[in-house]
Amino acid sequence: MTVDVLVIGGGNAALCAALMAREAGASVLLLEAAPREWRGGNSAHTRNLRCMHDAPQDVLTDAYPEEEFWQDLLKVTGGQTDEALARLTIRASSHCRDWMRGHGVHFQPSLSGTLHLSRTNAFFMGGGKALVNAYYRSAEKLGVQVRYSAPVDRLELQDGRFVAAFVGSERIAAKACVLAAGGFESNREWLREAWGQNARGEWPSDNFAIRGTRFNQGVLLRQLLQAGADTIGDPTQAHMVAIDARAPLYDGGICTRIDCVSLGVVVNREGRRFYDEGEDFWPKRYAIWGRLVAQQPGQVAYSVIDAKAAGRFMPPVFPGTRADTLPELAQKLGLDVPAFMQTLNGYNAACRVGRFDHTLLDDCHTEQLLPAKTHWARSIDKAPFYGYALKPGVTFTYLGLKTDETAAVSFGGVPSANLFVAGEMMAGNVLGKGYTAGVGMSIGTAFGRIAGVQAAQAAMKSGVHHAAA
Ligand SMILES: Cc1cc2nc3c(=O)[nH]c(=O)nc-3n(C[C@H](O)[C@H](O)[C@H](O)COP(=O)(O)OP(=O)(O)OC[C@H]3O[C@@H](n4cnc5c(N)ncnc54)[C@H](O)[C@@H]3O)c2cc1C
Repeated sequence: MTVDVLVIGGGNAALCAALMAREAGASVLLLEAAPREWRGGNSAHTRNLRCMHDAPQDVLTDAYPEEEFWQDLLKVTGGQTDEALARLTIRASSHCRDWMRGHGVHFQPSLSGTLHLSRTNAFFMGGGKALVNAYYRSAEKLGVQVRYSAPVDRLELQDGRFVAAFVGSERIAAKACVLAAGGFESNREWLREAWGQNARGEWPSDNFAIRGTRFNQGVLLRQLLQAGADTIGDPTQAHMVAIDARAPLYDGGICTRIDCVSLGVVVNREGRRFYDEGEDFWPKRYAIWGRLVAQQPGQVAYSVIDAKAAGRFMPPVFPGTRADTLPELAQKLGLDVPAFMQTLNGYNAACRVGRFDHTLLDDCHTEQLLPAKTHWARSIDKAPFYGYALKPGVTFTYLGLKTDETAAVSFGGVPSANLFVAGEMMAGNVLGKGYTAGVGMSIGTAFGRIAGVQAAQAAMKSGVHHAAA
């Protein structure tokens, strides 16, 4: 069987590519590793995409001009970004929503408590799950063939050209191919390799949970690295959040995040604080706490708050451990009570409370305490007390394939004529490190759409055009 365009992956980037290739007249086959009920990869867990706009637009307030978006990217990546590709993504984010609506995606204004994103981010009605469902419905209506439970094990390549893909022993040839199979965050062996063993003899990554799909094993990324494809990004970089330690190994999604860190203190399993919980606003800091917890013994920490914090953060899906006294809380959390009480008493005594305001970088801070808490420092003294055990939750990895404005995979600097890449598999070109909410979907949508068109054109150029089945 031969199609014009083979799309490998089943999330946002793959679906954007499949739809665009089909709209350009190519026959398209999409191979999704997951079974139908788990389709959609990490994209099914998302809530929004970041959009440039020069004036208020439907669900977006005020303006978010290109330059501001670019400066935000520059800041979070510390300059590890390709300006041309970043600007291409930013511009594409300003006009993709009409196309998305055309394929059944609906938007809604941001909900309260969603990190104040109403100006910059357009939220999907029904979340990412509804988005991928809409795209699958539209793809099937347009005649894209979709196969589930079809993990591609390897590619057949010849001189930088795609020839065929293998699902087990089945060989699937196509004139062009789009790779959109995500990062390698679900591959625990590879995470071990990237994170290594620490001085305590622990393999830290063994205690990480994967916030999204189990199917992003990085099989094709690995093969392409070995085949000499040009790469981008650091394998040890991953977007990592502190999540509820009770979260499942895979697919815990957004509701396992613990958002009360800045309202209390965080201690490690020895009962000691290790970082300034009030360094900056939570939306700017939540993504560093996964890594901070990963560096603690046992890769575990405990977020502790008192009754004053209640109602001031998005409630996690599971209730916290509750106690009427601090020693009782320490005991229930399995912590050494004297060590914990020494930390809490020291912290409480060091608080210099001014005018508490969680919406500002307020003047409530600690004095003569290491590490300091620089804002929102109030003593933890009002029962009931709550504690949440935290562990690192990996969102996605950054290592990917180097590409250009045509989304081509390149080998030794030479772009492939018929192999393209989109989404997390190439996001490192734009986002070398760090994160700004919603940009993953902006990158996947921009490059998925480009890759689809390019693959369709490459297929047409290569001769016989295969009509859609
Ligand atoms: C909990 C959570 C919340 C997030 N929230 C947001 C958000 O609100 N906004 C935002 O912009 N980003 C968010 N992200 C990041 C976002 O999910 C990614 O940037 C984006 O989904 C990447 O899209 P993708 O299509 O590249 O990958 P994915 O959506 O992960 O798709 C990869 C696909 O490839 C398939 N696959 C893997 N290997 C193979 C193989 N060998 N053969 C065939 N198929 C294969 C997988 O099954 C999957 O369908 C979030 C991530 C998580 C985990």
